[in-house]
Amino acid sequence: MTWLKHTYSQQLPKKFHSSQNPQPVAGAKMKLFNHSLVEELGVSAHFADDKDSLNYLSGNKVTPDSNPISQAYAGHQFGHFTQLGDGRAVLLGEMDTSKGLVDLQLKGSGQTPYSRGGDGRATYYSMLREYIISEAMHSLGIPTSRSLAVVKTKDKIFREQVNAGGVLSRVASSHIRVGTFEYARYFGEEGDLNALLLYTIKRHYPEVLDHQNHALGLLEVVMKKQLDLIVNWLRVGFIHGVMNTDNMSISGETIDYGPCAFMNTYHPATVFSSIDTQGRYAYANQPNIAYWNLRVFANALFPVIDKNEEAAKQKAEEVLNQYPAAFSREYFKMMGSKLGIVYQVERDRELIEECVGLLEKEKVDYTNFFTELRREGELIQTLRKNQTFDGWYKKWQVSRVKMANEMESEALMAKNNPVAIARNHIVEEVLKAAVDGEIKPLELLMEELSNPYQDSAKLQVVPAGFDAGYQTFCGT
Ligand code: AMP
Ligand code: MG
Repeated sequence: MTWLKHTYSQQLPKKFHSSQNPQPVAGAKMKLFNHSLVEELGVSAHFADDKDSLNYLSGNKVTPDSNPISQAYAGHQFGHFTQLGDGRAVLLGEMDTSKGLVDLQLKGSGQTPYSRGGDGRATYYSMLREYIISEAMHSLGIPTSRSLAVVKTKDKIFREQVNAGGVLSRVASSHIRVGTFEYARYFGEEGDLNALLLYTIKRHYPEVLDHQNHALGLLEVVMKKQLDLIVNWLRVGFIHGVMNTDNMSISGETIDYGPCAFMNTYHPATVFSSIDTQGRYAYANQPNIAYWNLRVFANALFPVIDKNEEAAKQKAEEVLNQYPAAFSREYFKMMGSKLGIVYQVERDRELIEECVGLLEKEKVDYTNFFTELRREGELIQTLRKNQTFDGWYKKWQVSRVKMANEMESEALMAKNNPVAIARNHIVEEVLKAAVDGEIKPLELLMEELSNPYQDSAKLQVVPAGFDAGYQTFCGT
């Protein structure tokens, strides 16, 4: 039965992909399968047979009439431009779902023409990690690629040590990246960029077809989507860790979970990635980097914005110039909601800035602070012994309920502040157990994270000093 479509390879020039079957793996075992995702998408029927599912999702067998590909792209990595592509992934095809057309991709499925010397494989550990964090992000209500399954293999993966192999099946609105546009502009021929532009608009933003300048229309909507995404990351303390332009999806979903992690103690300069020594992708620098990436996106679009480069630049600039004010507006609105300020006024910005400054100074746990503030918990009682904090607290009590009541304010806080997040120490604990053969703790954690705003959830206390020694890694 043919259930995968191939619009990407059929509608775009050959340059954008290479035909590539996944490479078979040894001793494939299905370790996680996301039943609720297939139900949500209305595609359970395709995965009704366990043996077929394992074959397809391990890469040991290609679905009938399928034409798997690896996608070509380029990107700015830590600011440097390079030609890239799916070095360890294949797109099996696109599934027709209740949410429209979505990509079904295997990650860790072997070498491709874009592997650049890499082994094309992924460790079981890192694919489980992507599964946990991406699904946790979804439960938090944040746009993200989804994880359909993790297969464990008997292949030996050589990193710092020998690891078990893993193949993740990933579902996303698409895998079109800012880097795909850079590839079209800088490695493509006449017409390639326009073909990608039209394909992207039709697939993701058909309303842009009514815009008098398609490329500018796309820039506008992508900027809005990206801004909303980053504001959401800041809301829950998420640090992506490697916001290279090839890891920024045009659909506005969080993709390419590598050295990502959630912040515990509030500090704007928090970085966990072992290679981000300059703090380029630090927690509070994410809005600036998104803006930088959007500028790269705009540059790639110049030829389709206007034939005259100067005119194109000017038109793009008019759109991009709106970012700083728009970001600041959305950021304060989000933070105001976390604080339960129902009717926000200009003056509340000071209150928010003061709060963030105090969290940093007093080294407060970002997630627990907002929950405890809503519950008037112990953490707040302790903080109020500090005169400066108590002064802030009293101002906050007045601000949150102007023209509203406490119940409305509490409801706003409950909606915007997760109680449970994927805490690093817990994530590492369940991953270790899973790698050692015990998957149950991971499944229990997933269950807990599937409802992160529930009031009954327990506060998670981070072992003292844990963050200081915590490091995350790319491409493991
Ligand atoms: P990332 O920053 O993790 O999204 O990866 C950057 C690039 O490196 C992408 O083009 C990946 O496909 C490629 N890559 C990462 N790990 C491997 C690997 N083990 N083998 C081949 N290519 C890889
Ligand atoms: Mg990537």
